[in-house]
Amino acid sequence: MEDFHKALNDKGLTVSSSPEKGRSLLTTRDFSPGEVILSQEPYVSVPNRNSIDSRPKCEWCFSSSNLKKCSACKVVWYCGRSCQTMDWKLHSLECQVLCEVDKSRLTSLTPSIRLMVKLFLRRKLQKEKGILSTSTDNYNLVEALVSHMSDINEEQLVSYAQMANLVNLILQSEPDVNIKEIAVNFSRLACNAHTICDAELRPVGTGLYPVISLINHSCLPNSVLVFDGRVAVVRSLQYIPKGSEVLISYIETAASTMTRQKSLKEQYFFTCTCTRCKEVGQHSDIRESAILEGYRCKDDNCIGFLLRDSENKGFICQQCGLLRDKEEVKSIAAEIKLLTEKVSTLSSEGKKDTRSIYTAIEKLQVKLCHPFSVNLMRTRETLLKTYMEVQDWEQALAYCRIIIPIYERVYPSLHPLIGLQYYTCGKLEWFLGETLEAIQSFTKALGILSITHGTATSFVKELVLKLEEAHAEASHKNLAPVRAT
Ligand SMILES: [Zn+2]
Ligand SMILES: [Zn+2]
Ligand SMILES: [Zn+2]
Ligand SMILES: [Zn+2]
Repeated sequence: MEDFHKALNDKGLTVSSSPEKGRSLLTTRDFSPGEVILSQEPYVSVPNRNSIDSRPKCEWCFSSSNLKKCSACKVVWYCGRSCQTMDWKLHSLECQVLCEVDKSRLTSLTPSIRLMVKLFLRRKLQKEKGILSTSTDNYNLVEALVSHMSDINEEQLVSYAQMANLVNLILQSEPDVNIKEIAVNFSRLACNAHTICDAELRPVGTGLYPVISLINHSCLPNSVLVFDGRVAVVRSLQYIPKGSEVLISYIETAASTMTRQKSLKEQYFFTCTCTRCKEVGQHSDIRESAILEGYRCKDDNCIGFLLRDSENKGFICQQCGLLRDKEEVKSIAAEIKLLTEKVSTLSSEGKKDTRSIYTAIEKLQVKLCHPFSVNLMRTRETLLKTYMEVQDWEQALAYCRIIIPIYERVYPSLHPLIGLQYYTCGKLEWFLGETLEAIQSFTKALGILSITHGTATSFVKELVLKLEEAHAEASHKNLAPVRAT
């Protein structure tokens, strides 16, 4: 452990412990915006396997192009020789184990099961010195993670026990693995594993990063976690002075305090006491919740927020005083619910053409929800995605432009999603010949993504290149320069 603290100290970090918060990561020097605070390779990781995007991914780097299956186990894919070589020490062990699994059981090898198998196999390899242990890469750090075993409910316990049974069966040739330990590790993974996302924040896999797991949550974080391939990278979003706690967000922050608290409690078993959560019950927090998850004023031109009236007749606009009748709200909400159920059935049946239903939902939500409502925002995100899929670039651009100001309202100004949305907007504008607008959008995207993703990543380098090309095109066409806004 001494080596571990020294390794952190060399990075300008230290760990502190308190009974209320458990462990926290603190800075021992100043960090400037965009600076890498911490980066770590996963102890183990696994690509996800969801039904919407069933394309396989490379076991090492999560890429989905040029994949070849491992010819022995036929479970694992690689994008090329180099990824296969990097993963070979661990996979050669895993491959043997997977080859023993009965073919009829292969479908039960969910990503969580595979992650757990890999966890024990990697522990064994490090023990036998097949893979080197370092102060920041060893099983002791996994064991030190909280498991919250005493907080989980009966149903969850049963499910962990069943999964542990399966893992135990798969690892039957391994002598020092026991069911109880596996079950505890499932509980550890549930509150410590990270969803690995690509540069555009699309989930591609799951990984365990024990040092990154030291970082606590805030609904108004000073740092952000993004992934560069399989490497988890934490960057500061602002100037962080020496002696501060490094904080990232574990959840979607565009939500009311109640919703945020609920998801933190359910998945991570704690009550957040961040600066945003401390405002609960205060006017600012009530207003914010009513904007993010509440209704819109009856007057289309008013953007006031609504609160339930004292006589329970409906909801009163806090700006103009108009009442929205309870029954009217109820009936629109019921229509939306019906359509939402319909669209989710259709999607689960694999039906692709759901755009007309989403358009209908959007129309109803525009009538019902506050203009900055996150529910309306989600519907528009889905519509943007579907227009991109059918290559209707004009409509896609229109939605991009609607979504950006909403993002700017519901997220902090340096949120990666805002940067990514400007990037998409710029690409669409450029493609549609709106070069000057594209330059503006690329510039805005770069301003954010160079902080959240760093300037050295290939993703941001590509953006810089696009911006240069757009500038060249503009000067070639002799377009007037756009003044910086
Ligand atoms: Zn790869
Ligand atoms: Zn294999
Ligand atoms: Zn909070
Ligand atoms: Zn109003």
